[in-house]
Amino acid sequence: MHSLILHPGREKSLLHRHPWVFSGAVERVKGEPQPGETVAVRDSHGAFLALAAYSPKSQILGRVWAYRENETIDAAFLRTRLVRAIGLRQELGKVTNGMRLVHGESDGLPGLVVDRYGDVLVIQVLSAGIECWRDTLADLLVELTGCANIYERSDAEVRELEGLPARMGLLRGVLPSPLLIHEHGLKFYVDVEKGQKTGFYLDQRDNRRRIGELANDKDVLNCFCYSGGFSLSALQGSARSVLSVDSSAEALAMARENLKLNNLVEDRAQWLEADVFKSLRLMRDQGKSFDLIVLDPPKFAPTAHHAANASRAYKDINLWALKLLRPGGLLASFSCSGGVNADLFQKILAGAALDAGVTAQIVGRFAADADHPAVLNFPEGEYLKGLLLRRVE
Ligand code: SAH
Repeated sequence: MHSLILHPGREKSLLHRHPWVFSGAVERVKGEPQPGETVAVRDSHGAFLALAAYSPKSQILGRVWAYRENETIDAAFLRTRLVRAIGLRQELGKVTNGMRLVHGESDGLPGLVVDRYGDVLVIQVLSAGIECWRDTLADLLVELTGCANIYERSDAEVRELEGLPARMGLLRGVLPSPLLIHEHGLKFYVDVEKGQKTGFYLDQRDNRRRIGELANDKDVLNCFCYSGGFSLSALQGSARSVLSVDSSAEALAMARENLKLNNLVEDRAQWLEADVFKSLRLMRDQGKSFDLIVLDPPKFAPTAHHAANASRAYKDINLWALKLLRPGGLLASFSCSGGVNADLFQKILAGAALDAGVTAQIVGRFAADADHPAVLNFPEGEYLKGLLLRRVE
C-alpha cells in the first residue's frame, strides 16, 4: 500500500484522532496513489498511524478512514459505518421524516453527507475518497434505508478544493414532486434540486422547536428566513405577528407555500424581500420594535481566514437587532461559520450590545440538532452555535 510519511513530530493530531492529514505535515508520498485511494499514514520512523483517503489536490492530503492497520477499506467497511450512522438517528424518526443520516467526519465517513427527505436521499460527495466509492455507497444506501431514490447535490464549494467538479442530478430512482417532509407537527416543501444546501436547514430543527415555545403572544422578527422554518414554528407557537425577511424571492415564495400548507393564521405573517443589513436600519428609523428576533444568517466565514470580515457582519446585524428589541425581549442569534468559534461569537455579541447601548443576558445556548453530531476530537464539526439573549434594559 502507498503511504504518506509525516515530518518528525507531526503525528500528534492523528494520535489525538483528529481525522485530517494536512499537506504541511507530510514529508513525502511513498508510491503513486491515485486520488481517493486508501493510503497508510506513517510517522517519520515508519510507524503506522492511520488509513486515509488520498486527496492530492487538497490541503487536506489525507482523510482518515480508520486507526487500525488490519482494517480493509471496502464495501463491508462502508456498510458498517453506514449502519451505525443510520442506527444513531432512529429516535429522530418520532418527530420528523427529514434528517441527516450521515454527517461526514463525525460519522467516520469523511466528506460524505446524506440527508433523508421522506422517500428521497440527497447525497453530497465532498472528498476524493468518497468520490471513489460513490456507486458502492449509493447501492448500500438503497439497501440500508429502503429508499430507492437518490439525488446528488455535489455542488458545495469545498469540492473545488478537492479538485472535483460540481455535479448534480439523479443517481437512483425518481424525484417525487412535490416533495414534503414533516417536522415537529409542521409540514414543509423541500426543493432538493434548487434549494439551498440539500434543500432544507435540518440542523436548526430543534432550535425551531424552541423558538416556537418562546413565541406565544409575541411580535416576532425572523431575519434570513429561507423557506420559513422559524417563522412557521413561531406561528405554531401562537405568535401575535411574524415578520420574515430574506433576500431570495424563491425562498420567500416557498415560505408562503409552506404557510398555506400548514393552515396557520395567514394574516399574522408578513414577508419582506430585502437585504437584512439595510432593513434592520430602516425598521429602526421607522420606530419598529419586537419581542423576539431570530438572526440566522448564511455562513459569513467558511474558514478562519474570513473571521475578521465575518465578525464585522455579525456585529452589525446583532447591534441593530438588539436596538430593535423591546426591554425584556429575546434575541436568538446564530452563526453557522466554521471560522467563528463559540467564544469569538460570544465576544462579537458582547461588542454589539456595548455599541448598541444595551444590557443583555445569556439565557440559553443553541447547537445543531442531534443528527449533526460533532465528535469531541474534531471541533470543526461543531459549526452551528447560537445564543439566546434577553435585553434587560
Ligand atoms: N433560518 C433558515 C435558514 C437560513 S439560511 C431555516 O431555518 O431554514 C440563510 C438565508 O439568508 C438564505 O435564505 C439566504 O437567501 C438569506 N440571505 C443571505 N444574505 C442575505 C441578506 N443580506 N439579506 C437577507 N437575506 C439574506
